[in-house]
Amino acid sequence: MADPGARRGADVQAARENVQIAGPRSRELFERASLVIPGGVDSPVRAFRAVGGSPWFVASGDGAHVVDVDGTRYLDYVQSWGASILGHAHPALVEAVRAAAGRGTTFGAPTEGEVELAERVTASVPGCEMVRFVSSGTEAAMTAVRLARGATGRDRIVKFAGCYHGHSDGLLAAGGSGVATLGLPDSAGVPAGAVADTVVAPYNTVPDIDERVACVVVEPVAANMGLVAPAPGFLDGLRRACDEAGALLVFDEVITGFRLGRDGASGRFGVRPDLWCFGKVVGGGLPLAALGGRRELMEVLAPSGPVYQAGTLSGNPLATAAGIAALDLLDAEAYETLAERVGRLASGLEGAFDDAGVVAQVPVVGTLLGVFFADEPVGNYEDARRAAANGHYARFFTSMARRAVALAPSPYEVLFTSLAHGDAEIDLTIEAAAASAKELAAS
Ligand SMILES: *Cc1c(COP(=O)(O)O)cnc(C)c1O
Repeated sequence: MADPGARRGADVQAARENVQIAGPRSRELFERASLVIPGGVDSPVRAFRAVGGSPWFVASGDGAHVVDVDGTRYLDYVQSWGASILGHAHPALVEAVRAAAGRGTTFGAPTEGEVELAERVTASVPGCEMVRFVSSGTEAAMTAVRLARGATGRDRIVKFAGCYHGHSDGLLAAGGSGVATLGLPDSAGVPAGAVADTVVAPYNTVPDIDERVACVVVEPVAANMGLVAPAPGFLDGLRRACDEAGALLVFDEVITGFRLGRDGASGRFGVRPDLWCFGKVVGGGLPLAALGGRRELMEVLAPSGPVYQAGTLSGNPLATAAGIAALDLLDAEAYETLAERVGRLASGLEGAFDDAGVVAQVPVVGTLLGVFFADEPVGNYEDARRAAANGHYARFFTSMARRAVALAPSPYEVLFTSLAHGDAEIDLTIEAAAASAKELAAS
């Protein structure tokens, strides 16, 4: 097991060697933010603690780029953690949101957009017959767990180390993403009782599932500990183990849904879960997520069933308008194009690392791409932590940022390529990576 203390040490060391990238206006805003917002950010990984320095503040985005308040224009591989698959400020999406806003932003009553988006989701994902819209992936995963417990009458849930399912108490145990970035095994403020029924298993190994288990929650492609593909047989094995024990299988497709393809990871790997969590892409960059599943299971939710769940802004008309606009542009051709560009980016990055003599791996699953500075294959969280322990990612991040390429400020994330990343952007990224890899090799 990688020692989190040692890993933090490496991160801090790398951070000290970094120069400040953010310009004066960003730094001033960060100082002001830090007085009125804890840590200066509304989501921890935005604070750049794993890579050093302080964040640039974004003034605007267009397509593959963001422009910060100091006027630096970055080629952006964060893309709102994957939500902006069309790139920033796509005209069709902006127009849809503008039109919706003109009709009123929220009513607390049903709207046509909810039906339109729900029909698109259920038509796209075989087996997903109904959806309930919520405002964040956290809510979707939290509700999936409550629904699974309510439907099975069982308490226990099984999750995998390094998989992130949002920040509800019961799912925060051994989470990926920001939890991993900060080296926190869990969070303070989560009572032992809240995770007493959460079992954490290593990714890519089918755990024992018995009759106490309500559900197994998994990222079918793990994308919050870097990118880790499911090993052959893992997802099938989970399906079988759940069926034998009468437990439900929950695919958290908040990243993979509508990014790997219209039918997400369940379609790609041919394994059908009982429940799906969607987020990010499905909301077109607005606060929207969804829980989906088979009809008889979904009808266990209030008001048709006894499991309570609600939301003032759920299925918000701006968000459904954005989701509909996004999904209507995401056809088979769009995914082919995206996968082709991601593939080219991956070979370019591999070449750049090879040429510089930097030990690295560039895993790819369809339209998702990750980078690990390690020679051992990464199959689970323990491997991912070992791979992150050398601090190389922070150095690479800084070199790339100096060349105006914005990667995620954490080694536990993936690169989010959008449809606005054309051949020219991919080429620029590869050039920047070649120069950054040489700097890394020399450091
Ligand atoms: C981002 C993410 C979540 C949480 O979604 P929020 O909208 O940030 O609450 C849940 N699961 C996965 C796999 C995610 O990547």
